[in-house]
Amino acid sequence: MMSEFTESLLQWYRKSGRHDLPWQIDPNSYRVWVSEIMLQQTQVNTVIPYYTRFMQAFPDVAQLAEADVDEVLHLWTGLGYYARARNMHKAAQMICREYEGEVPADLETLISLPGIGRSTAGAILSLSLNQSISILDGNVKRVLARYYAIAGWPGNKKIEQQLWEKADRHTPKQDCAEYTQAIMDLGATLCTRTKPDCQSCPVRAGCQAEKQNLQHMFPGKKPKKILPVKQTVFAIIANTEGEVLLEKRPPSGIWGGLWGFPECTSDQKLVDWLASNRGYVTEIARENAVVRHTFSHFHLDITPVKLNLLATEDRIEDKPDQCWYKPDGDLKLGMAAPVKKLIDGLFSTVVGEH
Ligand code: SF4
Repeated sequence: MMSEFTESLLQWYRKSGRHDLPWQIDPNSYRVWVSEIMLQQTQVNTVIPYYTRFMQAFPDVAQLAEADVDEVLHLWTGLGYYARARNMHKAAQMICREYEGEVPADLETLISLPGIGRSTAGAILSLSLNQSISILDGNVKRVLARYYAIAGWPGNKKIEQQLWEKADRHTPKQDCAEYTQAIMDLGATLCTRTKPDCQSCPVRAGCQAEKQNLQHMFPGKKPKKILPVKQTVFAIIANTEGEVLLEKRPPSGIWGGLWGFPECTSDQKLVDWLASNRGYVTEIARENAVVRHTFSHFHLDITPVKLNLLATEDRIEDKPDQCWYKPDGDLKLGMAAPVKKLIDGLFSTVVGEH
């Protein structure tokens, strides 16, 4: 028997839900997987062009597995949370190696792959295979926390557990693909974070938060903590050919595997640091205003410094983890957002000044 909540939601979805998102067309497990990973922490409208380009480049799991990780990160540039892309690439390789190129069709195996948690696995199985498995993404957490007036931050294990119980309670045995899309759509279109449209909501009759006019209280907010500030310096080195020197970052740590400027975190003077650590002889052309980039655990204050290479260093050789990059050239590299922004905004000036 379906709960009233589920029945009302399904009826609403069939009439008013979203049915033409790119990943809803021919929704196989791979397509749904890619969309679910991209949609984590990112709005649908932002994701659509990225998703379309990604699918053109890697239409199936085998082509993703065979791709160079730089190409994958390049197509991810601007979406942020790059671990998502690296994990997806790794998982695609595991799928090809261990599961004959077929995305596993059971919850446990899916969860064992890098970057796939319980909710993402549930979404893949329900949306692509209509399996009766619940999900609990950000939208669903908000809907259920309001519907049951569950106080507290959903990142807290106990609260999350309560929400999973509610999610399981309403997940139907049949029509689960539609139900999953329906509850995600409700959270994305009516039960929105700041201005829920309760008048149009199909589950309004049973909603505890609406009854008490306390929608804004649910879900509870994450306890605030003051983020520490770290400092770093980006060395922006351009040559006379209109290129800028980039290095590949180590595979783990922040912006792992992405390309960026040589980065100096030591107390040494930048020019000395470049000489002793990279062997480059440089002089400072200009120090730019500090740019702040905020991660979930800290702020990073970046000082971008433009440098000129002195005569003998005019050509530093390309290596696997170092290259001269031309913004309008053919080379496709994954970059962290502040690096891309600096290149987009400053490159012409850097070259012009050289
Ligand atoms: S009635 Fe309002 S708060 Fe309750 S689930 Fe619907 S949109 Fe959300």
